[in-house]
Amino acid sequence: MAVNLPELPYAKDALAPYISANTLEFHYGKHHKTYVDNLNKLIAGTDLEGKTLEEIIANSAKDPSKAGIFNNAAQIWNHSFYWKCLKPQGGGAPTGAIAAKIDAAFGSYDKFTEELKNAGVTQFGSGWAWLDGQKALLTIDVWEHAYYLDYQNRRPDYLTAVIQNLINWDFVNSNLG
Ligand code: MN
Repeated sequence: MAVNLPELPYAKDALAPYISANTLEFHYGKHHKTYVDNLNKLIAGTDLEGKTLEEIIANSAKDPSKAGIFNNAAQIWNHSFYWKCLKPQGGGAPTGAIAAKIDAAFGSYDKFTEELKNAGVTQFGSGWAWLDGQKALLTIDVWEHAYYLDYQNRRPDYLTAVIQNLINWDFVNSNLG
């Protein structure tokens, strides 16, 4: 049983104009899919074939000889999580339990957005900006492929647009449970 590319939780044009259908065609349809295809090739015929994605990540995380497997598996997990962190008509200040947690941890929503943006802007090269402790709560992909077609080199503009318009706080709240 192979690892599957999960369905996007919305149509490819649903996040426009902040993230275009063109970006999702490439980011989901090419990048995310390629990680899945690569992983399935790497684990074919090994004892990891048939394992869940989480099991594959846990098994390969501390084994340098499985770095290729870990990198592809982690990218699959991160992207699937990232898609769920976004939704049309999202963003803005959160409601629910996460709102109080953010106030407690960061002082205010404005301070939180400042720190999240700063984490995303200062990530050198490709990477991810996370709000988490031991459990993943929210992420924003800041690899160039996440924003370059829409924002070229303006990563701060992409981060601002996502934070103001696309964050799925219902999903983030559900991760607190
Ligand atoms: Mn990506």
